[in-house]
Amino acid sequence: MPRISRKAESFGESVIREMTRLAMRHDAINLAQGFPDFEAPAEIKAAACAAIEADINQYAITWGAKPFRDAISAKTAHWYPGWEVDPETQLTVTCGATEGMIASMLAVLDPGDELIVFEPFYENYGPDAILAGAVPRYVTLHEPDWRFDPDELRATFSPRTRGIVVNSPHNPTGRVFTREELELVAELCIEHDVVCFTDEIYEHIRYAGEHVPMATIPGMAERTIAVNALSKTYSVTGWRVGWVIASPTLTSGIRKVHDFLTVGAAAPLQQAGAVALAMPDAYYDDLAAGYRERRDVLVGALTRAGFRTTAPDGAYYVMTDISDLTEDDDVTFARRLVEVPGIAAVPGSSFYSRRELGRTKLRFAFPKRLATLAGAAERLMAVDPAQARASGVR
Ligand code: GLN
Repeated sequence: MPRISRKAESFGESVIREMTRLAMRHDAINLAQGFPDFEAPAEIKAAACAAIEADINQYAITWGAKPFRDAISAKTAHWYPGWEVDPETQLTVTCGATEGMIASMLAVLDPGDELIVFEPFYENYGPDAILAGAVPRYVTLHEPDWRFDPDELRATFSPRTRGIVVNSPHNPTGRVFTREELELVAELCIEHDVVCFTDEIYEHIRYAGEHVPMATIPGMAERTIAVNALSKTYSVTGWRVGWVIASPTLTSGIRKVHDFLTVGAAAPLQQAGAVALAMPDAYYDDLAAGYRERRDVLVGALTRAGFRTTAPDGAYYVMTDISDLTEDDDVTFARRLVEVPGIAAVPGSSFYSRRELGRTKLRFAFPKRLATLAGAAERLMAVDPAQARASGVR
């Protein structure tokens, strides 16, 4: 009987996407997978339709349509003065940040190389590393403020370390790493000749702190692979358009892998992407303000319902602790919530290699209309401990 590869055997299905399927089956409010239920900006939808009408319907250049690469370079320089990105040699347009990250790892990591990942983590990085033949090594972000211990980080670097993943603002905790923390990571990367893979997809979704791109820290531009996408900033997660900024040397490898993986991202959506990236600064202010309001509504509702949590500084997730509500583990509790009262969240253990660390945690996502969040708040009031006890949960 044919079998699946050892690589494919060594990781499970995405729990985030499984929760979305369960939410649909039970008609639950989906606060599991992080995607907006509100409209994308009208001007970029119009630009996508116009591009299709204008017959921009064949392959773009494999590493990205020129107007889109130019727009990425211009936007990067506008937000982070001094970060010069040559669109001809330092950019690869990919099918979302997801492809950007795995194409980058496949281009840089060899079998047996070690990749450092902070945990809790966004669930893709482990399988990305495994598919690249690399071995993930985990460094814990400690509660309550989700900081890493500098000594633990230092001790995790070994002669086999080839890469580290930095995701700030951070999914699932909402942590925005400080310049000092990033400088320590940079120092260790330089000392050990390591590549830093950064996932900066939530750069504009921030309520506190500044976004410091790793590539702007002295000595890091040549060893940083910065992954980003249209998905979160412009509320178009289904378009699957992302990009990767890296040195010309690293870009040459990333472009080759990307070419053979997917050939390229959707051509008309890259045209629309150029319009998106040219939006005025006010767009980003409004984006963050809208998310701040949603964050406060959800954090309030979760707190009233008995979840222990703190408001995140960035991204659009709330990590919660369920120990005051149940003695059940995260997976059991999440499966119950999706049925009654009908709220989907992600079990915390799916963000940890040591699953027991997430046993009392659930992640809720809030890229949702205020009406959706109000509906969720109402349903959450039904999650009271007494009721949980009555239904035999405790
Ligand atoms: N990044 C989003 C999340 O963590 C969506 C993940 C996905 O399904 N690609 O929920």
